[in-house]
Amino acid sequence: MTSREGVALVVSGPSGVGKTTLVDRLMAEFPGFARSVSCTTRPPRGQEVDGRDYHFMDVAEFERRREQGGFAEWAEVHGNLYGTPLEPVNALLRQGRDMIFVIDVQGAAQLKLSLPGAVFAFLLPPDLDALERRLRGRGQDDEEAMAKRMENAIAELREARWYDALVVNDVLDEAYDRLRAVYLAATLAPARNAGLVEAMLGDPFEAARRG
Ligand code: ADP
Ligand code: 5GP
Repeated sequence: MTSREGVALVVSGPSGVGKTTLVDRLMAEFPGFARSVSCTTRPPRGQEVDGRDYHFMDVAEFERRREQGGFAEWAEVHGNLYGTPLEPVNALLRQGRDMIFVIDVQGAAQLKLSLPGAVFAFLLPPDLDALERRLRGRGQDDEEAMAKRMENAIAELREARWYDALVVNDVLDEAYDRLRAVYLAATLAPARNAGLVEAMLGDPFEAARRG
C-alpha cells in the first residue's frame, strides 16, 4: 500500500506580481488542489467573495481567533491582519490533498517551521517599474496604498533568497510553466510517496528468508 501526504505549496511575492493570476491557473489545471482561504481584516476588493477569496472579518473577531490558537500563521501586511486558519491545514494534507497558500514572507517563515515539508516559491516581477505598472493597471489602490505596497515589495524581495524556487513573472506562460514544474517536482518527493519502493520490493525479511 502506498500513502501520499499532500503537497503544501507556499507562494509569496509582492502585491501585483501575479500571484492570483498564476495560482488560479494552477488550480484550474489541477482541480484536486485545496486553496487555503485566509482570514483578513481588510475590506473586500472588486469581485472578491467572502469564503472564497478570504474570510473577511473585523479586528476583534480576528484577534479572538488568534488568541484561541486558530491560525497556522498570521501577519500584519499593509496595515491589515491576515491569517491562515489552522484547522483545515493538517486535516487536508493528511488526507493527501495538495494545498496552496498565498501568503506574505512573514507568514511563510512561520509555516517553514510548522510545515517542514512545504515547498516555497517566490514570484518576482521582471523589474520594479513593471510591478508598479501592474498595480496601477489593477486600479484597486489609492496613491497612499500604492506607496505602501511598493515599499513593502522591496522589503519582501529581500527575503526571497531563502525560498526553494524563484519564478520571474515576465511572460505569463513561461512563469506558469515554471511554477507548475515546482509543484510537479514536489509531488515526486520520496516523503510524499511513502511505501512506493517497499511495495515493489515486498517484505525485505521475507526476501532474506527466501535467501
Ligand atoms: P497579485 O495576486 O500578486 O497581487 P495579480 O495576479 O492580481 O497579482 O496581478 C496583478 C495584475 O498584473 C493583474 O492585472 C494581472 O492581470 C497582471 N499580470 C499578471 N501577470 C502578468 C504578466 N506576466 N504580464 C503582465 N501582466 C500580468
Ligand atoms: P491582498 O490584500 O493583496 O490580497 O494581499 C496582501 C498580502 O497579504 C499578499 O502579500 C498576500 O500574500 C498576503 N496574505 C494573504 N493571506 C495571507 C495569510 O493568511 N497570511 C499571511 N501571512 N499573508 C497573507
